[in-house]
Amino acid sequence: MNDAAALRAPIRHRDALHLERTVSLGAQAAAALTLRGLREKEAFTLVDAEGTAFRASITSLGKAGAEALVYERMALSPEPPVALTLIVAVLARQRMLGVLQKATELGVARIVPVITARSVQADGLAHEKVHAWPAQVLRACKQSRRASVPELCAARPIADVLDTLGAAPQARRFVLDDRPHTPADGTAPASVQDHGVVLAVGPEGGFDEAERAAFGAHGFEGVRLGGRILRAETAVLVGLTLLQRSFGDYRGL
Ligand code: SAH
Repeated sequence: MNDAAALRAPIRHRDALHLERTVSLGAQAAAALTLRGLREKEAFTLVDAEGTAFRASITSLGKAGAEALVYERMALSPEPPVALTLIVAVLARQRMLGVLQKATELGVARIVPVITARSVQADGLAHEKVHAWPAQVLRACKQSRRASVPELCAARPIADVLDTLGAAPQARRFVLDDRPHTPADGTAPASVQDHGVVLAVGPEGGFDEAERAAFGAHGFEGVRLGGRILRAETAVLVGLTLLQRSFGDYRGL
């Protein structure tokens, strides 16, 4: 796991954790707390050797390590059992910030902003305050008590993202499209638990025909959410909720 991924991963304590006990954490955990923008007296989610999540309050934080008082055992893990990747066309400023916040609350592991024919274009990113995106994700992590920090990728053209994903769908891949969609070709994907799920949502003007064909060629299953046209940010909420209900921590609801 590279350094950046290690710092986004859940902060773990090697032994079992007990309430009202203060624990010492090493330099990597201290760096992860700092990455999350946390300071002394602030709370975070700590995972013990058995994978049980606890809430702890930072009592000291330095480069060499940290100390924290464990004060609550979380009844449910804040991390879903499936790795969800959201590919989302870059939206205008506040709408994109809203998508980043809600996707983080809904448990995504990775957010991949993409430039499509009808999205915000690469030369418009600065105007749409792309620099504010990472802090938005961290705030949502803190508020939703996430144990891990979703990976927020740099905005790239959709063609590059699909090429990187490759044609062989390891993960289940879904693209939300309000228009009829060419059925995905390619072999049935491997297990969701092992390889996660990918959800793609388009921009205000939707995907164009070339993008639709590219999704089909990369094994994306088209999904229509009824007959109403949703705003992209609404579609993100609905799509992620449906995936959590089918594969993640909303199963059986
Ligand atoms: N194509 C529409 C607007 C796109 S809405 C138009 O031209 O008016 C933005 C994105 O939200 C779409 O690209 C799609 O990913 C998603 N979306 C909106 N409504 C949807 C629906 N009913 N079913 C599936 N996806 C939808």
